[in-house]
Amino acid sequence: MPTTQYTEILAKIQKINPINYAKTRNNLDGAVTQLSPFISRGVISTKQVMDVLIAKGYRSAQLERILQQLAWRDYFQRVAQTHTELWQTEITKAQEFVVDEMIPTAVLEANTGITAVDMSINNLYQYGTMHNHMRMYVASIVCNLGQSSWKNGGKWMYYHLLDADIASNFCSWQWICGAFSSKLYFANQENINKYSGTEDVGTFLDSDYRKFNDMVIPQELTEKSAVELVTVLPEKTSVTLDKKLPTIIYNYYNLDPVWRQDEEANRVLLIEPSHFNKFPISKANMEFFIELSKNIENIQVFVGEFDELQKECPSKEFISKEHPLFSHIPGTKDERDWMFPEVDKMQPSFFKYWDKIQKTQTFKKIKLK
Ligand SMILES: Cc1cc2nc3c(=O)[nH]c(=O)nc-3n(C[C@H](O)[C@H](O)[C@H](O)COP(=O)(O)OP(=O)(O)OC[C@H]3O[C@@H](n4cnc5c(N)ncnc54)[C@H](O)[C@@H]3O)c2cc1C
Repeated sequence: MPTTQYTEILAKIQKINPINYAKTRNNLDGAVTQLSPFISRGVISTKQVMDVLIAKGYRSAQLERILQQLAWRDYFQRVAQTHTELWQTEITKAQEFVVDEMIPTAVLEANTGITAVDMSINNLYQYGTMHNHMRMYVASIVCNLGQSSWKNGGKWMYYHLLDADIASNFCSWQWICGAFSSKLYFANQENINKYSGTEDVGTFLDSDYRKFNDMVIPQELTEKSAVELVTVLPEKTSVTLDKKLPTIIYNYYNLDPVWRQDEEANRVLLIEPSHFNKFPISKANMEFFIELSKNIENIQVFVGEFDELQKECPSKEFISKEHPLFSHIPGTKDERDWMFPEVDKMQPSFFKYWDKIQKTQTFKKIKLK
């Protein structure tokens, strides 16, 4: 499990070298930040990372690549605000080549014969992490080579990833299979070898890109399996709440320890069974989430639906952060920390989003440095 200590997480932000990042991020052993588990759980924000990098005095050209990647995340969050069912509904168009809802067994068993891919799937099971390129390769193998639906592939990956995020995950799966992009994404063996340092030959990906247009499912991917994804919830415990105080709600997408930290309030980590039935996560993932919540002083865990908490909780005022998956929580909703809050509407593509960002005052101030 990665660290769950807030001070160590902050130290990780300080260690980012945006120059090395820009040069190496596509390589399996590149200088990536590994911050996504903390960003996805809402412990830190993309804006917080951006602010640290700017304060360290890097020039705008040195920052461009990493800011763009962080902005991809904010972009997907904006998409999710508009496409509120993007885990089950295509954003732009239906996946064209799909013969099966189930996932290739070779992928589930980390037995595709592609060394880097199999190693990465094993790492996903063991550590809950996977490099961005590997996620792209795996999603492409599942959807475009294996012609399985993006929906179950996305659900399976979400279950295991410590950085599980509905928006980033499902937008990416949809992007790979052409449901949120103009063409299918393919990577051949040569490309995988280049970024992973492997020397595989003769695999089902060892061919010219034109061959992928035939859309013939490789023999290795014809057998498909269903996966059962179940969340093990923590034991129910009782909470003691002061009825004179407001109640601040934390959840799987918001564990920010400094948000409203000086206010007197009840602080409740709400673990709703309905949420985790719909979006199952692994046992390791649940443990990581609970550990991270311990950075929030005086937090109490409530396993149950919001309505049950409301009955138990005499407090009239509820405070939470805006997030489309938690729109049912009433009361005050604080904005999330966006890098470029001026661009607050969903754009049809990341490049349109980035274009609008470049015209904002926030971006122009970075450019002046
Ligand atoms: C099929 C697929 C599924 C994915 N599922 C998730 C997911 O569930 N949760 C998740 O957080 N990311 C997801 N991503 C995006 C990306 O792979 C991860 O954010 C990234 O690998 C995290 O590693 P890092 O923190 O070292 O990233 P770095 O490269 O160090 O980037 C810094 C931060 O920028 C953001 N970022 C970087 N690349 C992307 C990207 N392509 N899309 C969105 N944000 C990005 C992340 O917040 C990341 O922490 C997925 C990508 C694909 C292709």
